[in-house]
Amino acid sequence: MAVDADNLLIVHYPDPVLRAKTTVIKSVTAEVRRVVDRMTAIMREEEGIGLAAPQVGLAWKLFICDVPESDERSASDDPPTASPGLQVYINPKLTKPTGPLEPFEEGCLSLPEIRGRVLRPPMVTITAMGLDGETFTQTGAGLLARCWQHEMDHLDGILIIDRMLQEDRLKNRTKVKALEK
Ligand code: ZN
Repeated sequence: MAVDADNLLIVHYPDPVLRAKTTVIKSVTAEVRRVVDRMTAIMREEEGIGLAAPQVGLAWKLFICDVPESDERSASDDPPTASPGLQVYINPKLTKPTGPLEPFEEGCLSLPEIRGRVLRPPMVTITAMGLDGETFTQTGAGLLARCWQHEMDHLDGILIIDRMLQEDRLKNRTKVKALEK
């Protein structure tokens, strides 16, 4: 069934699509491009740094990231800790998690007002297909690596409320219950 890309909207927890098994994208069609354009517009509007297809109601293996540079982050670091602009990851796979797990507070556009510390390795390698249909591999660190891991979790039906430290899970309990109503 054709996707009405222009009318895609952010999906909030507990919508079941956020837990759905995602499917591989066979090729970069015009429809995939329209979905990426719409996801980009939504991410910019919501001032997010990443967005996964299930968050707009599509159980596809696709996410986008744009981690802006700052005093602490740069796309020219080795490995990079920010993106050089919008990046599209189709059928991504993560490998080589490196370094001791680090806690850092994360939020999610599908879980409004909920934030909590999640432990993740500080460096990871991603292999994915780009919008040009070519497979590429990148290694990232810092917020960029964290963004990839957060978005990758979405493609596996995992949310920050599943991963956050127990103390933060308890702090957010009321807000999570409110979303479930
Ligand atoms: Zn998220």
